[in-house]
Amino acid sequence: IKRDPHEGEFIQAVSEVVHSLEAVLSKHPQYVHILERLLEPERVIIFRVPWTDDKGEMHISRGFRIQFNQALGPYKGGLRFHPGVNLSVMKFLGLEQTLKNALTSFSLGGATGGSDFDPKNKSDNEIMRFCQSFMEELYRYIGPNQDTPCGDIGVGAKEIGFLFGQYRRLTSHYESMLTCRSLPWGGSHLRPEATGYGLVYFAKEVLADMEKDLKGLRCAVSGSGNVAVYALEKLITFGAVPISISDSRGCIIDEDGFDLAKLSHLMDIKNHRKSLREYTKTHPRSKYIDDGKPWGVRCDLAFPCASQNELNHSDAMALVNAGCKIVVEGGNMPCTTDALEVFRKSKIVYAPGKAANAGGVVISGSEMIQYTGRTQWSPDEIDNKLQEAMREIYIKCKKAANEFGIGVGNPELLVHGANIGAFLRVARAMLEQGCV
Ligand code: NDP
Repeated sequence: IKRDPHEGEFIQAVSEVVHSLEAVLSKHPQYVHILERLLEPERVIIFRVPWTDDKGEMHISRGFRIQFNQALGPYKGGLRFHPGVNLSVMKFLGLEQTLKNALTSFSLGGATGGSDFDPKNKSDNEIMRFCQSFMEELYRYIGPNQDTPCGDIGVGAKEIGFLFGQYRRLTSHYESMLTCRSLPWGGSHLRPEATGYGLVYFAKEVLADMEKDLKGLRCAVSGSGNVAVYALEKLITFGAVPISISDSRGCIIDEDGFDLAKLSHLMDIKNHRKSLREYTKTHPRSKYIDDGKPWGVRCDLAFPCASQNELNHSDAMALVNAGCKIVVEGGNMPCTTDALEVFRKSKIVYAPGKAANAGGVVISGSEMIQYTGRTQWSPDEIDNKLQEAMREIYIKCKKAANEFGIGVGNPELLVHGANIGAFLRVARAMLEQGCV
């Protein structure tokens, strides 16, 4: 806090981790210095990204790559293009990613990156020119054994394609230095779906421990991007009743629940960059709330899948009053600290993003293995691996919490377990590799 007093998001993420590690640090004081070292990113790269719009006017965006921790393997983590990107957001995402990757069975370090460039309302040519300029600098720092970025908010298949094309042109290397690639040129089946599907598999594990099932449960979901949409699809497949979707302008509540046909209609609306309000024209029983959030509607589970700190104290109170019993984070740090306090006091089970949304990195890791082995696994094979990986992460979190006396019935079991399990893996590697 003394060193980076203005980095609100980073301090918030650090505070949550430190809170979970109290028992670990008093039992293993040798890890105090390791934690201090872990909280300082290994490398912060900030660069200028000049690009021209379609009218020929020049703009300057700011590019970032935070190579947070490489103790477990090559850096890996998303790229975010959004006007809200700044150093604090990048550092919190880098820390989250380091711990998330440590919960998987892969040997991957953690990183994040992106730019304050806003891809919204830009032509494909503008986005391409921006991506090329961004890669013009980034290519020096990435590579299959060094750092392998992937997508996040504002970076989907189109942007990944432009970034990869420019990397290939600059280096003349065709290699696995970027995941979330399209299927015909080195991508993996189910990568777009992986985070959303994995999220729902994780929720199933939580429910199974309570001897419950998703079938018939009402689920409030926020966001309408990559994570939210595939979480909705999987919820529908499992017979749950997802009742909401949202974006930065407002939210749709459909008390009857979405089915696959309704979801496809919603995706069509989003793909044409129209307002979600359009949906009410064909589904008059649904309602659109301008600037609204979906947390006040009766539900059993909540899946915040949009952005950091989207769910605040009053939203958390609304969820409690709406009967919600479980919150499973699809986004990275979508709940504010005081929202988490409400969940804790109300005994709402809370699954943190670094565990619940790890499905994306699981399939990114698989994409790298498939590419290196010049093979492509079938969708069924990958889906089975994803389910198994989410189950393993869930078990790892529970086990790590149990070892430090945090038992079933504690609503913070999963957040403490995720932080402890991930930290111990990274800390051990850092200790064994010496003071670097
Ligand atoms: P997308 O860019 O595909 O979608 C983001 C969605 O969130 C959009 O619907 C956007 O609305 C909405 N949104 C953004 N900011 C706000 C806000 N302040 N309030 C309400 N809605 C908002 O991103 P993803 O789905 O990929 O990512 C969503 C979250 O999941 C992020 O926190 C990301 O870090 C996390 N995540 C993503 C992974 C992945 O594999 N993609 C992996 C792990 C985590 P609009 O369309 O209006 O902009």
